[in-house]
Amino acid sequence: MKDKWLRDIEYLRVSVTDRCNLRCFYCMPDEGVSKLSHDEILSFEECYKVIKAAVELGIKKVRITGGEPLVRLGIVDFISKIAKLPGLEDIAMTTNGMLLEKYAEDLKKAGLKRLNISLDTLKEEKFYQITRKGDLNQVLRGIELAEKVGLFPIKINTVIMKGINDDEIQDFINFIMEKPYEVRFIELMPMGEAQDIEKERFISNKEVMSTIPGLIPMIKSDELGPANYYQLLGAKGKVGFISPMSNHFCKSCNRIRLTADGKLRPCLHSNFEIDIKEAIRNHNKDIKELIRDAILAKPERHYLNEKRESSIRNMNQIGG
Ligand code: SAM
Repeated sequence: MKDKWLRDIEYLRVSVTDRCNLRCFYCMPDEGVSKLSHDEILSFEECYKVIKAAVELGIKKVRITGGEPLVRLGIVDFISKIAKLPGLEDIAMTTNGMLLEKYAEDLKKAGLKRLNISLDTLKEEKFYQITRKGDLNQVLRGIELAEKVGLFPIKINTVIMKGINDDEIQDFINFIMEKPYEVRFIELMPMGEAQDIEKERFISNKEVMSTIPGLIPMIKSDELGPANYYQLLGAKGKVGFISPMSNHFCKSCNRIRLTADGKLRPCLHSNFEIDIKEAIRNHNKDIKELIRDAILAKPERHYLNEKRESSIRNMNQIGG
């Protein structure tokens, strides 16, 4: 399916919950956010209906995210049901890794192909400070297990913030010298909790790159993705840079989002949403029609650098 700007839209990101077992200070308030009731969030059956319709329309890739997707009970069965959808080529998940030790093997068996794991520090104490409750070693054990059961590739998403973890860029590089993972440095975006700290904490990826000697640019593969990748001599893994602020990749944006409470969101940075839950529950609108509407409503690009539209949701609610 093409949008108004002739981009091929073939990627759906599905947030299955707004709940999270961590409280990363730039993402969620300490006390959490007002949790949606069971009735407010889409049931797995309803999510499945949307995904099935989207795949029939031409969506080829689905990513399950949240909140933290692994805290939702029944997630493995849900993955195994989606994985059987004819026409769906890729099914991935974004997780904070806290529950990976428990689920990696079952996720692989269920048909999950690959994982993005959010990890902003390799220091135990700092991990606890950033996430306000996490256990770094638990996450690292989960990542090891995910690698062992063959979830591949493993991508580590790291938001670099001034004065928080910008002293660890080399540590992450050392990590991928030894491990076959892709570390992707991501620029902090002024959304949710980060709106107040972004000015003080933002570092452009240009600055981050300038601290890493020996980067060898890789030719972009066919897979449309936001990261620009680099190799390093002797490294088992590679390094990527995702620069939504300094070098936005809207031109190649190929995605729409489904929020946990059943809204189709054409652009991460625009508050425009289409209520698909209401259509499913009242049987009053064609789901496929609404998916098409969402695709056609995709703006050409985000305007975060010009006029900031204060986001009505935090990342945990949209599905980062
Ligand atoms: N719980 C899962 C996880 O941790 O990967 C999925 C949801 S989490 C909201 C997804 C990603 O959003 C995380 O990698 C987090 O770092 C990122 N994120 C949250 N707020 C952000 C911000 N203001 N700028 C950049 N990335 C952000």
